[in-house]
Amino acid sequence: MSTSLLYHAFGIRGYEYIRTDYHGGATIFTIRQDPHDCRCSACGSRRVVSRGHAERQFLALPIGSRKTTVALPIPRVECQACGLVRQVKVSFADPRRSYTKSFERYVLELSRRMTIRDVAHHLDVGWDMIKEIQKRDLSRRYAKPKLKHLRALAIDEIAVARGHRYLTVVMDLDSGAVVFVGDGKGAGALKPFWKRLRPSGAKIEAVAMDMSGGYQAAVRANLPKAAIVFDHFHVVKLFNDKLSDLRRALYREATDVQHKDVLKGTRWLLLKNAENLDPEKDEKARLKEALKLNEPLAVAYYLKEDLRRFWEQPGRRFATTFLDGWIRRAEASGIKVVQQMARTLAAHRSGLLAYYDVMISSGPMEGTNNKIKVMKRQAYGFRDREFFKLKILAIHETKYALVG
Ligand SMILES: [Zn+2]
Repeated sequence: MSTSLLYHAFGIRGYEYIRTDYHGGATIFTIRQDPHDCRCSACGSRRVVSRGHAERQFLALPIGSRKTTVALPIPRVECQACGLVRQVKVSFADPRRSYTKSFERYVLELSRRMTIRDVAHHLDVGWDMIKEIQKRDLSRRYAKPKLKHLRALAIDEIAVARGHRYLTVVMDLDSGAVVFVGDGKGAGALKPFWKRLRPSGAKIEAVAMDMSGGYQAAVRANLPKAAIVFDHFHVVKLFNDKLSDLRRALYREATDVQHKDVLKGTRWLLLKNAENLDPEKDEKARLKEALKLNEPLAVAYYLKEDLRRFWEQPGRRFATTFLDGWIRRAEASGIKVVQQMARTLAAHRSGLLAYYDVMISSGPMEGTNNKIKVMKRQAYGFRDREFFKLKILAIHETKYALVG
């Protein structure tokens, strides 16, 4: 071992190598700092007087599977310039950290391919240490995304844990990046976002959201010039939920066994877009049979398929005629859930038609929501909410993806 190897292999520079010890399977390098090379850590002055030292150990890069530790008596000095007594700075580790910067980089490198548990196991350290290293790195890179360029947003809530725990996610629809994650849902969850958005000078033109009303008033109050678009994705999802309710109710009411059986397997078929039905699995025929047996279900299904055409109109005028016609037909259907849908759409008419002024949709949010669902199932779950939020902010960066 040498001072030069310390630098080239372990990233430790400006210290003198003293000796190597082997203890319990670990390799310990003792190093020291030249007392004439000390500066005040507060003001940087070289006019310092030695006041003893503090023994510290740092985890360094392992040698193969052997743990490596660096032992350093950190000089404590009294500064003649500012009068403070302080430990001098350690160049190879961040303040208050018990590992070297190169160890930290190694952990991050492994984290791109291994779960937190695997990295911890491989390096023989605690799960929390690996998580903290990831968390600090995520925080440095993603905690405060730039907002100045934002133009079109999507706002959505996601359920993150049992017991109705939610997060509110704001996405930049131009880049697909998540730019804010708030606690809870509704207007309150967005407060910290407005606080950061205001000084950024961003000019938001449009915001896509669902029709539930949770975010609408907050967006109107904070972005009075932005168009609110109740988007395709959420409207179809809402109708699909109603279609599922209807199917369930019909299933409960059905007395005929054969009738019940036909309904049973149709849940996904009803929600699928007609053009995606798989001919090889006979999906079209099965759906047709179910619809033949249930007139209300058939009416609701065809109204759903028809509603999708609202977003394919050549312009606002056609779209207006289409929407009003659809609402009339739905109201005339006599089916309760469909009539509810008609009333909801009528109440949100202008926000639906706004699509023809700014063609945005929360569609890209769906992919992000699915990735968040996968993260939720991973080992760390929701134990550290801040960590989870940071991971959501980094979710679009496939190059940066950390496993587990
Ligand atoms: Zn000083």
